[in-house]
Amino acid sequence: MSQLHFEACDGIAVLRLDNPPVNSFGLELRTAIVAALARAEDDPALKAVVLIGSGKGFSGGADIREFGTPKSYAAPNLLMVLRAVEECAKPVIAAINGICMGGGFELALACHYRIATADAQLGLPEVKLGLLPGAGGTQRLPRVIGLERALNMIVSGTPQRAEQLRGTPLFDAIVSGDLLAGALEFARGVVRDGGITRRVRDLKIKMPNAEAYLQFARNTVKAVAAPYPAPPACVEALAAAVKEPFEAGMRRERELFLTLMASPESAALRHIFQAERAASHINGVPDSLVTRPIKRVGVVGAGTMGGGITMSFINAGLPVTLLETTREALDRGLLNIRRNYQGALRKGSLTEASLEQRLALITPTLQYESLHEADLVVEAVFENLEVKRKVFEKLDEIVKRGAILASNTSALNLDVIARFTKRPKDVIGLHFFSPANVMRLLEVVRGAETANDTLATAMALAKTIGKIAVVSGVCDGFIGNRMVARYGMAAHDLLVAGALPQQIDAALQNFGMAMGPFRMADLAGLDIGWAIRKRRAAEFPDGDFSNVADILCEAGRFGQKTGSGFYRYEAGARDAIPDPAVTAIIERFREQKGVVPRTVTDTEIVERCVYALINEGARIVDEGIAQRSSDVDLVYLNGYGFPAYRGGPMFYGDNVGLLTVARALSRIAAVPGADAAFWTPAPLLTRLAREGKTFSEFRGSSST
Ligand code: NAD
Repeated sequence: MSQLHFEACDGIAVLRLDNPPVNSFGLELRTAIVAALARAEDDPALKAVVLIGSGKGFSGGADIREFGTPKSYAAPNLLMVLRAVEECAKPVIAAINGICMGGGFELALACHYRIATADAQLGLPEVKLGLLPGAGGTQRLPRVIGLERALNMIVSGTPQRAEQLRGTPLFDAIVSGDLLAGALEFARGVVRDGGITRRVRDLKIKMPNAEAYLQFARNTVKAVAAPYPAPPACVEALAAAVKEPFEAGMRRERELFLTLMASPESAALRHIFQAERAASHINGVPDSLVTRPIKRVGVVGAGTMGGGITMSFINAGLPVTLLETTREALDRGLLNIRRNYQGALRKGSLTEASLEQRLALITPTLQYESLHEADLVVEAVFENLEVKRKVFEKLDEIVKRGAILASNTSALNLDVIARFTKRPKDVIGLHFFSPANVMRLLEVVRGAETANDTLATAMALAKTIGKIAVVSGVCDGFIGNRMVARYGMAAHDLLVAGALPQQIDAALQNFGMAMGPFRMADLAGLDIGWAIRKRRAAEFPDGDFSNVADILCEAGRFGQKTGSGFYRYEAGARDAIPDPAVTAIIERFREQKGVVPRTVTDTEIVERCVYALINEGARIVDEGIAQRSSDVDLVYLNGYGFPAYRGGPMFYGDNVGLLTVARALSRIAAVPGADAAFWTPAPLLTRLAREGKTFSEFRGSSST
């Protein structure tokens, strides 16, 4: 099927882009546009050209499927297509509806005329990939909507509705009714008026004090954008549009674009963009698999997680039946949900009416029978296998056949939970992160018996509620908590070796982590890990589970919630203040272990903590717990504050070089007294390092 349909309509050539889903400009479509323009130009019966989209709108821009392949550079590239449009001897009119983004918008800007429907969405989102619009967007947009508006659109990457840009020279008309009919009528008018071809490049940018404005923009954008180079580069490209003739401005845009393309920040953001798309493909499950309809949801437990999970569903308009054991627990849960929304109300991001509308979607209940009609039930009760057994046995009895039964367990074995029912095929893990209504990450846990359509339905549902879903196999801690445990151990080792919490946290925060491990531990509460270690110590009397955090807990220091942990906190404040009492506890701990403290450098801190993550990530990928290394990156980026500009731990490892990572780990493992099992490079890491390959290239043994 051709990606471009050519039709002659009463003296006007209509070029309809037809490359679903978003008419992106792959090589085939680019070639077809150039050929169709030549055909229209050569036909004396045709007096003008209308470029129009189909499906979701005009065009979403570059074809992401071509990214990184020779096709994306092959002639005609986008700049050549735009030149062909601009230099066409007959007037070319862009007829815009739906989405008009990136290269699609740049193409429209190269046309001689533009008409649009009021609800068309126009934007240049390249900055979100660490780039700038590289096909004249920075030069043409300010010529039609003014410097200030263009700068805001390009630097933020946020799209605008055509209606918001009405009255600017961007549009020659905003049409209501049929777009093609409007475009044809407009084209006939242009022909009647002499068929003039006007070019945006010939317009002047009028702004008094443009230089002062640009200086202001440079200062503010740089401060907000750090460490990303793209937003300041956008300002520079716009400055060139103001100061230079068009062609010189285009050259400056290209120069800046190529610099950004080569920047590690953009590489990381493009990796994340691709990773998010890859994550929705499930090994062994065709993308076309029919999913089960989810119209009504049940949530069991209205505590911290149950409340947040309920909010995630009602925010997307899905009605929730919320079950608790007692009236008090139910009322408390509902009150917490209301309180959470009140924050948004105060900020003005939610109206009173929509708050009530959302709350009205909740049906509170104390009766399991009320869950009979649910299409999916998420269990979020205490983390105790016996409690979960009772809940799942009851759900199995009550909830209709074909419904999905999900557990939000953090650490219990999902396969054991699935066996509490007679329908393990319908059981899945939905591991939300706290606060569940805010955090975008969702680990979708695939049990040994989880059916393909159960899994596909959960992934589709995650999309509906705006989550980034990553499939994880069953193991202790799934992907994220399994990794963070290793990271915490590496940080604790450094504490014992001679560093202090504040040094370790500062080093990792300088690396870009949202929060250092000890501040994070204080926030999460030290008592949870303490309880786990006590349990493990009882189970394995020969093991050494001792941890500085245990001594802190024994002293009543559970973290932020008790006003002290690895740091102390002033009443009502969250600032972590270093505490000499903690230093004394750490020093005593070292003495007990017979450790003579040594100097630990910040470089060593980052290396050990991040390489520990990479090593565990390699095991997780090799075992097939994660389907691909980019899934591991998504989990760590979205759940644990890894800096986006580094692309995730696995991508970071690829960039450092896996040989370097493996050698560093071997060096640490060989230090006398080191936990060799912990530090020895994972088999996959060793293998890839030896072969000179990256995690990104590894497809796993189970992938399809
Ligand atoms: P919570 O103690 O805040 O809430 C549990 C709620 O379940 C309570 O309101 C309790 O009354 C209710 N409940 C207990 N037994 C019940 C039953 N039989 N029927 C109905 N309701 C019952 O706990 P939480 O932090 O919300 O954790 C819930 C689950 O989510 C656990 O499995 C936990 O491991 C998991 N989880 C927690 C977090 C987190 O950060 N808190 C993150 C991810 C997953």
